[in-house]
Amino acid sequence: MNLLPALLLLYFSAPARAAEGPRAGEPQIRVAIARNSSSLKLKTSAKIYVQEVKSGQKYLLLGDANYEVRPSAGGIAVAGQELSSPIKLLAAEGGERIRLGAHLYKGDIALLANPEGKLDIVEYLSVEDYLAGVLPAEMSPDWPLEALKAQAVASRTYALRFVNPAKAYDVSNGVEMQVYNGTTKINPRILEAVSSTRGEVLRYKGKLVMAFFHACCGGHTASSKSAWGENILKPLYGVKDPFCAPSRHSRWEYYISSHDLLKFIQSRSSTALKVKGMKIYKKDRSGRAASFRITTDKGYKTVQATDMRKHFGTYEFRSTFITSITAVKGGYQLTGRGWGHGVGMCQEGAKYMANKGRPYTRILRHYYPGAAIVDYE
Ligand SMILES: [Zn+2]
Repeated sequence: MNLLPALLLLYFSAPARAAEGPRAGEPQIRVAIARNSSSLKLKTSAKIYVQEVKSGQKYLLLGDANYEVRPSAGGIAVAGQELSSPIKLLAAEGGERIRLGAHLYKGDIALLANPEGKLDIVEYLSVEDYLAGVLPAEMSPDWPLEALKAQAVASRTYALRFVNPAKAYDVSNGVEMQVYNGTTKINPRILEAVSSTRGEVLRYKGKLVMAFFHACCGGHTASSKSAWGENILKPLYGVKDPFCAPSRHSRWEYYISSHDLLKFIQSRSSTALKVKGMKIYKKDRSGRAASFRITTDKGYKTVQATDMRKHFGTYEFRSTFITSITAVKGGYQLTGRGWGHGVGMCQEGAKYMANKGRPYTRILRHYYPGAAIVDYE
């Protein structure tokens, strides 16, 4: 039995336009929802179309069928038929949106053969639709509306910074940028937060702000310079934050054994055989540790705080905002504040500001001082 039905050529139409949006003039974004796949099993629940972008030729994929898509020498093979890259998957008129794995996607899906001979899967959609998917992944949908609105403006600004037509896609869908899993968990509050701030972005001296955000700052946000060595712009210089103090993330403890610490510095070219002490070596102006100094049997070893946090895990070692290091049996007890890199908007603080009745504009002005909230274009 043939499990992979052949493609049905439908008609020869004009080449596909670039991404189509629900509203004219609304900015579009291309989101990589999977990268470097060696093949894709496409299970259709309803009929969908495959379109060769270059020729505009459209093919029908039957509903409730399995198709295999893989990169080929000439482009992309769908059910064994060679098509030129890229191709688009389009929901049929009146049909359901495209579902890949557990996720439902609102936009058009493009498949591209990348230079490594693998497939990248990219969704084309409006920034507003994208945000409706980002928001519930980056902030709890039951948080106060003004906090969700502040998040919508920050996320919109951040995403638009990456729009670059010269690249195969603008943003990826994981934690390295903003988490996006299609439009699966959208609820009316999310839609309201996005639509009531439609098109609004943060600009400083006319340029979009790199509107970073994080879970909890612990009392002072970090500057982008101390976190990543980037040039500081006023909105990302770091501010005092009295608002997140009630958060359960504002204080935490973490234990590092001397054994693990020794292994860590050995992996950073130390020849030490014994760790004798650990302290903060340098702090940035927000109070975060920039570096630690480890005393050993072979002298001192200085390590970057961000490198150490990455090594031990950013979930357990919640931030570089270390307030004390105490020698305990077999290791060191670290006390810290906040969760995340600390740059830009503190989400916990935004939540407490919203609970105190502050509007989203005030929240944004607090965390991105000097930035103007303006319409995009
Ligand atoms: Zn905070």
